[in-house]
Amino acid sequence: MSTLIGSAITLLRGESGVFAVSNEAFDPQSSAEYTLYHLSEEALPALLSYVQEAMQPNVQHPLVVETLPPALAARFGIAQEAAEQQGVECCSLALYDQNGSLGTLYFLRLATLRSCFEDHGAESAGTRTDETLLHFIAQLTAGLRFALRSQALVKEQGRLAAIFQHSTEGILTVDNALRIIDFNPAMERLTGWRENEVLGRFYFKVLRPQDRQGNDLRLEESPILQAFAGQEVVNREMVICARDGQRFTVAVTASCVRNARGETMNGILNVRDLTRERQQEEQRSTFISVISHELQTPIAIIKGYASTLARTDSRLDARALRLRLVAIEEEADRLNKLVGNLLYASRIQAHGLQMDIASLDLEHLIRKMIRRLHAKAPDVEVSLSFPPQLPTVMADQERIEEVIQNLLDNAVKYSPGKPHIDVACFATGEEVIVSVSDHGMGISVREQEQIFNRFHRVGEPLAQPTPGAGLGLYICRAIVEAHGGRIWVESTLRQGSTFLFSLPREEKAQLPMVVF
Ligand code: ADP
Repeated sequence: MSTLIGSAITLLRGESGVFAVSNEAFDPQSSAEYTLYHLSEEALPALLSYVQEAMQPNVQHPLVVETLPPALAARFGIAQEAAEQQGVECCSLALYDQNGSLGTLYFLRLATLRSCFEDHGAESAGTRTDETLLHFIAQLTAGLRFALRSQALVKEQGRLAAIFQHSTEGILTVDNALRIIDFNPAMERLTGWRENEVLGRFYFKVLRPQDRQGNDLRLEESPILQAFAGQEVVNREMVICARDGQRFTVAVTASCVRNARGETMNGILNVRDLTRERQQEEQRSTFISVISHELQTPIAIIKGYASTLARTDSRLDARALRLRLVAIEEEADRLNKLVGNLLYASRIQAHGLQMDIASLDLEHLIRKMIRRLHAKAPDVEVSLSFPPQLPTVMADQERIEEVIQNLLDNAVKYSPGKPHIDVACFATGEEVIVSVSDHGMGISVREQEQIFNRFHRVGEPLAQPTPGAGLGLYICRAIVEAHGGRIWVESTLRQGSTFLFSLPREEKAQLPMVVF
């Protein structure tokens, strides 16, 4: 573009100038609308506002020449002496062809100069000169149109490359022999293959697709071949194979690029991983069934006992009456806890939980909580272990109490028989660590990775003998991490579990930690 404009202005004997694309012709947002030649960016607005006021060139008068006031000429960088001696002209040349107007070339030149397209004898004016100028305009317009198109193509190519690179969906393209020619980063993440390992390979061999029943797809069932044959392949579910042999369900959309003769040139396959969507669907339905189950059980118990107590003919002694009232209270507590946990979980998701951070003595807090536990469940054995000078931490006491309470409740809940719990605290250079151990049923290594996820319960959620919605540990992790700490579990199946969490020591805590 710049070369074309520069040589055009030189041929027209101009010193400097600018080519302005007419808005209708090209993308009006394009920053390449103006191509400058020997004209500074600062001078451009002044020149544009001058030419806007001046006469505009058109098809009948493609070249308009006006004399520029000397004061303005200096602003456009024309040497003052030459400008004063010879005068300066501002010329506007309309650029158009059979496709319409492309834009205008504005240029500045010394008034004594004429280009080879204009300075012929007066008798030839309007004939030969005009014709040469028209040829020049036609050629320049064709050249500029071509240059603008290639500029737009380069931009488009960049945009497509960015979409290809940053798409969260896997995209692969193949040639018409179904050999891979592009494999985007999302596809690399999905399959574990690097692009350079698969380029040139038969795409069917790389993905090894199967139908949902696990049968290998035959070549004629290949989505790209079907797209080549003109069939519509949109969001078709299938199972593909990753580099490590792992299989997972995806939805694929295939399309093809044809040349002008309608022959297929490339096939494109969009691949969307459905694993996460499936997990979310599963989580949603588990959530509804677990929550309804967890709500129904205490409601049924409360209703049962309440209607017994309400019967006018019921003659219960004081002990029986008390047992029923205690049961109602316990079930109401259970309901309360469940609703509280649900609220907590939704606030964590909405990032709207406020924390009230202050210096906290964990030993004092834990001893208080164990006294409370003993008052409620005297048969639970607890042994405590604290170092002589346990450092304080910066924490929200209520929230940390919530964490410890959840761990204690679980230690009791998941210990068949008479529970024995060990609670210990110890300090490292950076943190204070709290551990809650039980000698209960333990958790398999595979499950240990999952139990901190929302609604995750070991085994079939609805077949659980112990009540719970799989929210407690999720909430614990959110609270601990919001304090800048960690939470983890060490467990052996059928031997017991130790849950540990850490909090930064008071002097190491990064304040303020207010919201998560
Ligand atoms: P809930 O106990 O309400 O189901 P949690 O999030 O507290 O939810 O626990 C998630 C799952 O982790 C539990 O359902 C249980 O399967 C397992 N779990 C938690 N604590 C223990 C423990 N101390 N011993 C064995 N399993 C546990």
